[in-house]
Amino acid sequence: MTSTKPTTPEKVYSVVPRVAKDAHIKGITQYKKEYQRSIEDPEGFWGEKAREALSWFHDFDVAHYGGFDNGDVAWFLGGKLNASVNCIDRHIVTRGDKTAILWESDEPGVHRRITYKDLLTETCKIANAMLTQGVRKGDTVAIYMPMIPELIMTMLACTRIGAIHSIVFAGFSADALRDRIIDAQSKWVFTADEGKRGGRTLPLKKTVDEAIHGVHVVKNVFVFKRTNNPKVPFHPKIDLDMTKIMPLMRPYCPAEWMDSEDYMFILYTSGSTGKPKGVAHTTGGYLTYAATTCKYTFDLQEDDVYACVADCGWITGHSYIVYGPLCNGATTVMFESTPMYPDCGRYWDLVQRYGITKFYTAPTAIRALMAHGKEFVKKYNRSTLKVLGTVGEPINPEAWKWYYEVVGEKKCMIVDTYWQTETGGHIGVGLPGAAPMKAGSCGLPFFGIDFAILDDQGKELEGVTEGRLCIKSPWPGLARTVYGDHHRYLSVYMAPHPGYYFTGDGARRDADGYYWITGRIDDVLSTSGHRIGTAEVESALVAHNVVTEAAVVGFPHRVKGEGICCYITLIHGVDGTNAVMKELTQQVRSIIGAFATPDIIVFVPSLPKTRSGKIMRRILRKIAHGEEDSIGDVSTLADPDVVPAIIANFKHVL
Ligand code: ATP
Ligand code: MG
Repeated sequence: MTSTKPTTPEKVYSVVPRVAKDAHIKGITQYKKEYQRSIEDPEGFWGEKAREALSWFHDFDVAHYGGFDNGDVAWFLGGKLNASVNCIDRHIVTRGDKTAILWESDEPGVHRRITYKDLLTETCKIANAMLTQGVRKGDTVAIYMPMIPELIMTMLACTRIGAIHSIVFAGFSADALRDRIIDAQSKWVFTADEGKRGGRTLPLKKTVDEAIHGVHVVKNVFVFKRTNNPKVPFHPKIDLDMTKIMPLMRPYCPAEWMDSEDYMFILYTSGSTGKPKGVAHTTGGYLTYAATTCKYTFDLQEDDVYACVADCGWITGHSYIVYGPLCNGATTVMFESTPMYPDCGRYWDLVQRYGITKFYTAPTAIRALMAHGKEFVKKYNRSTLKVLGTVGEPINPEAWKWYYEVVGEKKCMIVDTYWQTETGGHIGVGLPGAAPMKAGSCGLPFFGIDFAILDDQGKELEGVTEGRLCIKSPWPGLARTVYGDHHRYLSVYMAPHPGYYFTGDGARRDADGYYWITGRIDDVLSTSGHRIGTAEVESALVAHNVVTEAAVVGFPHRVKGEGICCYITLIHGVDGTNAVMKELTQQVRSIIGAFATPDIIVFVPSLPKTRSGKIMRRILRKIAHGEEDSIGDVSTLADPDVVPAIIANFKHVL
């Protein structure tokens, strides 16, 4: 593997002393010692973490069983526990009056504080409402709700009675919702009359009505109220008005004893690479992993005000708004709005008003905010911040530096967290009290994660290298199956490299053992014998001040094997002239090298993104291949209308 190694070593940013001072893991030596123990004795290590992080009704007998080959991985066998008890009840004595959820509504400053005691009461009422309607352990329940506290309470109510929740992000269409309801066979749906986001109103109940029309599997729809719009349709035969039901319910509900390996939830992946997969997680392993990663990645402390501004409809919301923070007894901020509403200072306004100490967002948001300048950041006091997290995509060094220097004023640790819906929690991350940072690297493996880099033939490569990122042995947070399709589980993750879990991503390992995600394996180009991660070309492009975003794909090239095609959005007011095109070509040549010279540059109004903000490169690849007739599943695309515009611009360039 050649060419993607930078010729000069990357700059290393030291651990910030004010973060390291009281950290759970202080210094690289302590990290290495713990890491080594976790790899040499995973059963001992995870057994200890599971007992430390969670309360068990009944202790487990065996820490770990099974492997990748049959996909029969199981953790904490014989153990009995309940997720909602771990998130709520066990904190009542010591933290009953502590704020569990700090909810900020779409309208700035309008908020609710929910203590752990309140959370218990409300969760129990919802759980009892579900029991009254016949929901039982093992049933699946679809949730299509706005970002209001009742969403978290509903998740916890499901797990309290042993129902398996299947959350569908409330921006999805009726068709996407219907597919997921049918795939998971959910007989109940939770929703709200309407949602609010960025000043807009989302017709959630109406979408649910459309989704379940003619779908006989659905028995009832539980409806909360967010806007109280009297015009929202209500069908008394199947709809249940939660505002009327809640006051009738008993505010305590005993919790179901769940086996460690009982399913806890299903969640569909974001569909960047194809039809979404219904990833299934189990109770003991998932919770142990979510709680442990949350504690160490964000170095959670008792007085933290912790904010993950993702949506609960993604795995990030599951693990790091709800289960991770609440298992740790933290105060978790739930944010209903967007980073741009009412203006680009919203995040930092939030930080100032609530004194947020740990903040977690996505590169796509950082890049968008960066395009609007520093002023929106500087206006607010951010001195409480200590750890700034990012997730979802490789972060380009430009955006990383902006996050570090402008937002964090070089006083915060940036944690770039690499993971997947399937991994349950972070698998690559530099711990904030321990690992010096490199802009664009997701740092080191998390405890218990034994990474391997393989070549295309499946041979494991040692030392400084690049290739296909795999994991050598199971960890508690690994998804146990694709719901209803174990064959797909085996074929996607286990079959490509027998004996390993295959992430589907490419990665480089540097001399310090740091990992650099180069993008999906499909996104690594081979041009004139050089291997180039599309992420690297994209980084070089967005480093230019006229570029907002870039997406790079390969296409068949007569001479080079694969050519480099770049789709670019420009900042407001700049046109895609030939001069700009030349400058960008030069930029890539000087940052990466002449071998990475773009073959095609297409300026586009916007890029095709999933609802979770990820660029769907496979669509761009189809266009570059001239195969726009077979684009495939686009149900998770945020704005399908961008596709024809991109096709038109592409044809214009050719
Ligand atoms: P699908 O599997 O349906 O194609 P998806 O992979 O986008 O969808 P997720 O599980 O939400 O669904 O995303 C996980 C992927 O996101 C990872 O495999 C990786 O490609 C990317 N990713 C997440 N975090 C990071 C990060 N910090 N650095 C680099 N890549 C990341
Ligand atoms: Mg994936």
